Amino acid sequence: MTTPAYSGLGPALTYVHERPLEPGTLVRVPLGQREVLGLVWEAPGLSLEGLEPGQARAVLQVFDAIPPLDAAWRGLASFAARYYQRSLGEVALAALPPQLRDLQAEQLARKLKRLAKAAGSSTKGGHQPDAANSNAGAPAAESAADNSAPPELSPEQAVALQRFQADDRPALLFGTTGSGKTEVYLRAVQELLEQDPQAQALVMVPEINLTPQLEARFRERFARWGVVALHSGLTPAQRLDHWLLAHQGRARILLGTRMAIFASLPQLRLIVVDEEHDPSYKSQEGARYSARDLAIYRAKRESEGRSPGHCRVLLGSATPSLESWRAAEIGRYLKLEMPQRIGGGALPRLRLVNMNHQPKQCVLAPALLESIAERAARGEQSMILLNRRGYAPVLACHACGWKSDCPHCSAHAVFHKIDRTLRCHHCGHSARVPYACPDCGNLDIAPVGRGTEQLEEQIAGLLADARRADGGPIRVLRLDADSTRAKGSLEQQLAGMHEGEFDVLVGTQMIAKGHDFRRITLVASVNADGGLFASDYRAPERLFALLLQAAGRAGRDASFVASQGTAVELWVQTWYPEHPLFAALAQHDYPAFAAQQLQEREEALMPPYSFQALVRAEARTQEAAQALLNLAAQAGEALPGREHLTLYPAVPMAIQRVANIERAQMLIESDSRPALQAFLAAWQEQLQLARSRPEAKGVLRWAIDVDPQAI
Ligand code: ADP
Ligand code: ZN
Ligand code: ZN
Repeated sequence: MTTPAYSGLGPALTYVHERPLEPGTLVRVPLGQREVLGLVWEAPGLSLEGLEPGQARAVLQVFDAIPPLDAAWRGLASFAARYYQRSLGEVALAALPPQLRDLQAEQLARKLKRLAKAAGSSTKGGHQPDAANSNAGAPAAESAADNSAPPELSPEQAVALQRFQADDRPALLFGTTGSGKTEVYLRAVQELLEQDPQAQALVMVPEINLTPQLEARFRERFARWGVVALHSGLTPAQRLDHWLLAHQGRARILLGTRMAIFASLPQLRLIVVDEEHDPSYKSQEGARYSARDLAIYRAKRESEGRSPGHCRVLLGSATPSLESWRAAEIGRYLKLEMPQRIGGGALPRLRLVNMNHQPKQCVLAPALLESIAERAARGEQSMILLNRRGYAPVLACHACGWKSDCPHCSAHAVFHKIDRTLRCHHCGHSARVPYACPDCGNLDIAPVGRGTEQLEEQIAGLLADARRADGGPIRVLRLDADSTRAKGSLEQQLAGMHEGEFDVLVGTQMIAKGHDFRRITLVASVNADGGLFASDYRAPERLFALLLQAAGRAGRDASFVASQGTAVELWVQTWYPEHPLFAALAQHDYPAFAAQQLQEREEALMPPYSFQALVRAEARTQEAAQALLNLAAQAGEALPGREHLTLYPAVPMAIQRVANIERAQMLIESDSRPALQAFLAAWQEQLQLARSRPEAKGVLRWAIDVDPQAI
């Protein structure tokens, strides 16, 4: 029998095996001199007659200890490959746990036995293997049973859940920060799994480390059903174990980041996408897929041939993406609303600080500083958002104008005072801070601008005389990618914040997401203005979401706020207080903001009213990178769909050179998604051909990004 199977990045290859193999079967096959993992894609059962001797090699091993990947999964992989313009082999094989590639069939069989044994020896239900602990290297205490009884739903939650269950459409849960969206997810999962003893649920979150609370809640409540996690923080062995448990249907709840959308879940009936607006759902490498968009496709595909609502999607956010919001507005999605906070707490009041009227060089407005000190004295916490890590974005010499540029990128190297380094955040280059200006010898080189490291230092200084209620000094915690590099340190520091070991939290956008802080009553944003005027048309949407999400960390415990008699506030320091974005922010009026943004997008024919793709080329020279794109564009004039498309000229990317590689991009726009898809599929060949032209000498690679998130 011949068996076309995917074993590499190219098209399917044909192999032979003594008996027919089902599509979706995992195999080991020879590829050149190597032996690799393969996936049987079709098994047409041809006889060997049509083949020349030696034309097809034999399958070496069949992983028959596990079921084949089912048709819905294969449908998802081939859709993703087609839509995001990558090869099927690449997408399908990248979706499998990496360790599977190095495994012999008998090793897999042994692993499965171990997993089954671990499951059998654990608590009653038998589906809580210790492999389910997701924290690599730090096995969490096994949660014995369901000790946490679910709370009674608020009326809004009950209505949302009931409406969700009475509909077939993808649902968008538009719930304000602190409205209890997580409880709705939990209950939707619970009711499904109780009613269908086989069903599986997939719950996706943007970054699992940021929300250990959410994971804990699922584990506590659903231990009996087997909860496993899938994300990049796992060891390869854990990733394989969890993948296998889901694939076998033994784990009925899978929690994961965007990669989890490709997990094999043969009984999948519910996909939850928490914080669905979050940009991290869009992959930025390989197949640049959107896990949120694939969730919609996957649910539809899983329902095919069954009932229309067999597999459901529940998207949730306090600041939905404009794409999802519009889909809900026009009825393509079911819109569920929860405008009230649990406990009836108020949302923070906006206090705009006009920086034109503040003392020169001031870091925090005096009134803001005072408010933070008063809160600390009363046992309340504050949080300050500054979306830039390091001490200062650049060092400069005021005598000659030298700046700390990265030698390999068209970007500044960031000054990190802690270890006195200049670090490039784009290529990773790191150098010691020079003693004197490298150009003129001036000893007085100084930081320009401010990052979180500096803000932490300045706040500690400014609050040095302030005291907590117990007379102790104010304690400042900084959270950003630098301060949380060590494994487990993010979780530990977040726990400290929850325990009240700190009074002020300073950090990048990671502090704004999802956290259920109970004692924060003030949130401040100190350099939001960049987002008001950025060239990327999505910048206002991002900024609005970030500020509302950040604001949502304050005043979450209504009874604490009431007992303190405090005012919950969002402070924003800005040079442009009249900007219309702030008017909508003051009202916490996402719908008004979205309506205004959508109107602008419709007038300018921008997504979601049009469809985009971005083609990026990398080369030794900027000319070559642009030439590749422009030549391919000329060659594509007659391709299908072309008449519905606008191809813009190639331009350098915002950061034009990274690690000595020049980067250019070309934007393609269309009012027709099928036309764009048809064109891109045909155009790949033209790009390939353009690469051999002399003008494009030195081109290293190019990639297509469909529905790009950043332009
Ligand atoms: P969101 O995700 O919408 O911001 P959360 O799901 O974090 O909100 O819920 C906010 C807080 O309210 C959490 O502390 C949660 O435990 C609590 N909560 C949610 N639903 C209920 C309920 N029905 N009864 C009591 N407390 C609830
Ligand atoms: Zn100088
Ligand atoms: Zn660099």
